[in-house]
Amino acid sequence: MPIDVGGFLETPYGVLEYYLGNYPIIGTSEEGRNIRLVNLARRPKLLVVAGVHGDEISGVLACLMAIEKYKHQRPPLALIPCANPDGLARFTRENYNGIDINRSFPPLGNGRPKETWTIIRVLRNLGPEMVLDLHELGLLYFPKILYFGQDHKNLLEILRSRLGPFTGVNDSPKTPGSLGCYLLNQGIPCVVLELPLYVPLQRRASKCLNCIQETLNYLEN
Ligand SMILES: [Zn+2]
Repeated sequence: MPIDVGGFLETPYGVLEYYLGNYPIIGTSEEGRNIRLVNLARRPKLLVVAGVHGDEISGVLACLMAIEKYKHQRPPLALIPCANPDGLARFTRENYNGIDINRSFPPLGNGRPKETWTIIRVLRNLGPEMVLDLHELGLLYFPKILYFGQDHKNLLEILRSRLGPFTGVNDSPKTPGSLGCYLLNQGIPCVVLELPLYVPLQRRASKCLNCIQETLNYLEN
């Protein structure tokens, strides 16, 4: 372990940088924190995006778990483990400037934040077959899966058999400015996982990891 004089490793962002320090920086946040891409394949089929809302941390944790699990196996998987590091550092939904990244994608939003541009750039460079966007929500009993674009009936059935009950909602027209709606316009299917906050963090992170695993299997077969 390194000597941690400033207490950096006691912060969630510090932990993230400790684990991800060898992976490329693909952008910086409005306050200058690193946004990193972990690409495990030459042509990733699945891009996982986590931490778009800085106070929803199970997805961030699940990305670290997925990187540990897959770093030698190298499946067609790429991850942005934390898209909003300023929000993570402050435990806020929004970024440093108080902007909700998930309402700042085209066609909405003027003065689009750097975090949003970073995600757009990665999408253009990688051209994934599907995006999995990991979130959390307070007033839920069962997990909720929002899907954008085509009805991923087979994937939803697989997830239902492996993850237990959840509600599946076609959210395509509802939230302009979100990553899901942007992807719909780009023709890239997107699945958004919303996990209930009453479930302990470790279990939420495990559910996210299962979801990454099953979506990857679905795309590979
Ligand atoms: Zn969210």
